[in-house]
Amino acid sequence: MSLPSRLTPFLAALLLCFTSGLEADPGPIYSGPKGVPVVALTFDDGPRQFTTPRLIALLDELSVRGTFFIVGAQAVQFPGILEDLVSKGHTVANHSWSHRNITQLDRETLLEELTFCSQAIETITGVRPRFFRPPGGKWDRRSLAVVQELGLTTVLWDVTGRDMVQRAPRQMAASVVKAAGPGSIILLHGGMEWTMEALPMIVEGLRARGFHLVSLDQMFPSAKEAAVPLRNVPVERTSPPPVRPVKVVP
Ligand SMILES: [Zn+2]
Repeated sequence: MSLPSRLTPFLAALLLCFTSGLEADPGPIYSGPKGVPVVALTFDDGPRQFTTPRLIALLDELSVRGTFFIVGAQAVQFPGILEDLVSKGHTVANHSWSHRNITQLDRETLLEELTFCSQAIETITGVRPRFFRPPGGKWDRRSLAVVQELGLTTVLWDVTGRDMVQRAPRQMAASVVKAAGPGSIILLHGGMEWTMEALPMIVEGLRARGFHLVSLDQMFPSAKEAAVPLRNVPVERTSPPPVRPVKVVP
């Protein structure tokens, strides 16, 4: 078993230098610093009982640290998978409690969706997520203001594997590798067979182009800490709402 890749001190210093002004930008982030040869693989909608452990093993073999945007209601069902993700050096991030379109939620419900997910992750792993990705990539100014209130940094993507529908792995890998540039954030999903098959080719292709694959924690070392979940948050319920089946929106 190989260790997750570590950044050279030179790359780490460059990233710190390029991202030190991150807090000043109020909008969502689509990519990292363009002046550093790093790309981030991100996996949405986990954890899933069977596919996420396989994905963790595959990333381990490839010596890649990735980022997992976690659905809180699933996280509490598979806490061991979250512990494994953190122990392998992956970034674990907030993808809401139940994967609803946040632009259609009232303020209180949105606060719950955000804080219950962060709280679940922090309770299980001891790590407070710093990054948030809105389900389906849907956001508006009002919802983003609530996200920012909690100190979460909203991260979207500039390259997508379009893997919510079945794709030929070789073709998918080729298009992702071609589209990526310095600082690219690549959207993938954790539960797809074709994504799993494409992943070694994606990693090989990106490395052949000279990119280092990094987690979002590595790409944005200066991102601010998120606020304490729930404390000072005006939600009335103190326990998460009942688990609902998660409808995945591409
Ligand atoms: Zn999603």
